[in-house]
Amino acid sequence: MRKPLFTLAFAFCFGPLAYCANSYYSHVVFDNSLTGERYFYTRAQASGDSTLVAPEGRIPVESKIFHTPPNALRLQWQSHANGGWTARIERPDIRNLPARYSGDTLFLWLYSEQTIENTELPLLQLTDSDHGFSEPVKLSRFVRSLPTAKWTQVKIPLREFRATSLNGFNPARLESVTFIQGEADGKPHSLLVDDIKIDFADEGKSQTLSAPSAVAAKGYDRHIDVSWTYPPNDTVQHFVVYRSLDGRIYQPVGIQMPGIHRFADYIGRTNQTAYYKVATVDRSYRESNVSAPVSASTRELNDDELLTMVQEASFRYYWEGAEPNSGMALENIPGDDRIIALGASGFGVMSIIVGADRGFITREQGAQRLTKIVGFLEKAPRYHGAWAHFLNGETGKTIPLFGAADDGGDLVETSFLLQGLLAARQYFHDQPDLVRRITALWEGVEWDWYRQTSNSDALYWHWSPDYAWQLHHRLTGWNETMITYLLAMASPTHSVPPSLYYTGWAGQSQEAARYRSGWGGTTEGDHYANGTTYYGTKLDVGVGRGGPLFFTHYSFMGFDPHSLTDRYTNYFDNNTNIAKINRAYCIDNPGKHEGYGNDAWGLTASDDPWGYGAHEPREKEDNGTVTPTGALSSYPYTPEFSMAALKHFYRDLGPQLWGVYGFRDAYNEDQHWVAPIFMGLNQAPIAVMIENYRTGLVWKNFMSNPEIQSMLKSLANLRDQEHH
Ligand code: CA
Repeated sequence: MRKPLFTLAFAFCFGPLAYCANSYYSHVVFDNSLTGERYFYTRAQASGDSTLVAPEGRIPVESKIFHTPPNALRLQWQSHANGGWTARIERPDIRNLPARYSGDTLFLWLYSEQTIENTELPLLQLTDSDHGFSEPVKLSRFVRSLPTAKWTQVKIPLREFRATSLNGFNPARLESVTFIQGEADGKPHSLLVDDIKIDFADEGKSQTLSAPSAVAAKGYDRHIDVSWTYPPNDTVQHFVVYRSLDGRIYQPVGIQMPGIHRFADYIGRTNQTAYYKVATVDRSYRESNVSAPVSASTRELNDDELLTMVQEASFRYYWEGAEPNSGMALENIPGDDRIIALGASGFGVMSIIVGADRGFITREQGAQRLTKIVGFLEKAPRYHGAWAHFLNGETGKTIPLFGAADDGGDLVETSFLLQGLLAARQYFHDQPDLVRRITALWEGVEWDWYRQTSNSDALYWHWSPDYAWQLHHRLTGWNETMITYLLAMASPTHSVPPSLYYTGWAGQSQEAARYRSGWGGTTEGDHYANGTTYYGTKLDVGVGRGGPLFFTHYSFMGFDPHSLTDRYTNYFDNNTNIAKINRAYCIDNPGKHEGYGNDAWGLTASDDPWGYGAHEPREKEDNGTVTPTGALSSYPYTPEFSMAALKHFYRDLGPQLWGVYGFRDAYNEDQHWVAPIFMGLNQAPIAVMIENYRTGLVWKNFMSNPEIQSMLKSLANLRDQEHH
C-alpha cells in the first residue's frame, strides 16, 4: 500500500455506468481546451522588455501537436533582464466541483519544436483556492534539456512547492499552475504544455489495461457517435479515440473520462465515412491495445431527423448519464457525482417517455427505470410530503446545497418532479404497480401545508424541520412556479383552494408588486398583467420583457399551455410572445455581444463564464451568454426560429458546442467560452418540448390525468364567476 502525502475521503464510481467526475477532477488540472484559439481558464501577461504571446490575456491553444487530443497550450516568450512574464493555467470552473486533489506529485507534459536547454526553462508556481501560494520552483531541477519534437513528462513532488504566502499552501485545493519567466536569455522560445495533473507517483504500475469492448459507431448529419463498454476500473485515466478517413492511417481525435463510454466526433461534413478504434489509457499514460475498427458515415439529415438526433442526445443525459443508484438526474455533468436534482429528475422522467416512444429505449426499459426512481423516492426523506431540492444519490439523504436552511421540502422542485411522474403514470398505464406507487407519492404531498397558515392566500417555496419558514419565499408569478399552483389545486388529498391562483400566483398586493419589480428591475408587469409592447409584440403577462425563457418551459413540459386561459391571457399565446420578444431582443442586441442574431438567440438560466445566471432580455441580465435550451425548448412556440437556431448551434458551432448529451449548456462568444458542463435542468426540456411540438405526446399524457381536468374546470369557473 502506498502512503499518500495527503488524501481526501471520496466515494468513487459504483456500478458500471457511474460517472467519475469527482475522481477525474481530483487529479486533472488541464487536459484540453473546448475552444480552439485560446484557453478560457488562463491568465497570461508580460511586463517590461519581455514578451509573451497572450491574445486578450489568454494562453493560445495548439491543435496540431498535443499529448492528448485534440489540443495543448502554447507558451511563446522572449525573456529579458528588465522584464518578466507569467502564464497562469487555472483548474476549469465546474459547478459543484471545487478543488479536492488527491496525490503526492504534480505531473505535466512538455514539448518543443526546437531543443530547449534546461536552464532556459521557466519557473513554476502554484496557488490554492484559499489565497495560498507556493514559491516558484525551477523546472530545470526536474527535467534535463527538452529533446526536439518529443513529449517529455515532468514529475515534481508536491513537497517541493513550499508555501510562501501567509495562508500557507494546500495542494489539495490547487487552483492554478503558473509558468514564470526564468533565465533572461533574450531568445525566442516556444513550449507546448499538456496534461497537467496531481496524482500518486507510483500509480498504475501494476497491470496492463485491456481495450474497450463492444465498440460501435453511428453517423449523423455532421458527427459520428462512437460508443463502447468498459468495466469500472480506477486505474483508467481516460479513453482515447482514433479516427481514420481511409481505413489505414489513424489519428487520435479526442479523449473521454472514465464512466462516460461515448464520444461525439464532430467531423463537420456530410457524406464522410470514418473508421474508429478506441484505447484505454492508465494513470501512468500507458495505452492499451486498440479495439477492432468500426466505421460509420455522416449524411445530410432532414429537419425531422435533426430533431430526433437532438432529442436522443439530450435524452441520454437522463439515461446513460443518470446517477446509478437512484436512476435520477445529476445536477450537472461533469459535476459532483452524488448530487441528484429533484426537478431535473422530473424533467428527465418526461424525456424517458420521449425516449420510450421514439424507440431510443424500449417501453419495458422505460418502465424499469421509472420503477427504480419511484423506489428511491419512496425511501427518500419527505417534509410534509415534499422532497428536498437535492438528494445524495448514494445515501438518499437531503443535501442542503444552497445553505443550511435549505434542508427541508422544496415545493417547486417537488412540483417539477410530480409533473414528470404524473405524465409517466398515464404513459405507463399498463404497469399497475407503477401507477399505484406514483399515485401514492402524488397523494402524499401536503400542498396545503405549504400555505404556512390555514388562511394564507399563497403558497411558500420551502419548509424545513429545523428552520421552519425561515426562507419565507412566497410563490408569486410570473415565473417558473405556475405548475406548483396548478398541482396544489389539483391534489386529490391536500389541495389548496383555486382562489390562491389569483391571490398568490397572480397576486395584486404591494408585496407581490415589490417582489416582481425586485427581480425584474421594472414596474412593467409588476401587477402580473403587463400590456406593454416590446419589439412589436404586446405582452399580456410577465415582468419586463418576460424574464428568462425557462419561465415558458419548466411548467409547460407536461402541462399544455393551450389549455389555460385565465383573466389575463392564454398561456400558449403568452409564452409564444415571450419567446418572440427574447429573440427580437437578441437580434436588436443592445449589449453589442458577439454572435447574436436570427439564429443565435435564447436568454435563460444557465452556466456562464462567471458562474450560474438567470439570463434574460435586459442589459443588466445579458452578459453575452446564449443558452441553446432557450431557443430549442421554445420549439412549440417558435418552430421556424427554433429550427434556425438548432441548425446554427449544430452545423456552425458544433465543433465546440456539440457533445455526448447534445448541446453543451451555454456559450459566450465575447469571452471565447463554452460551458464545460451539461445541466440537468436544461437538456430534458429540449427533448420534451420538441416532442410536444412534433406529436404533443407529453402534453397529452400529463393532461389526461383526471385531477388536472377537474382542476382546470374549477379554475375556469372561478374566472367566469368573477367576470359576471
Ligand atoms: Ca491535451
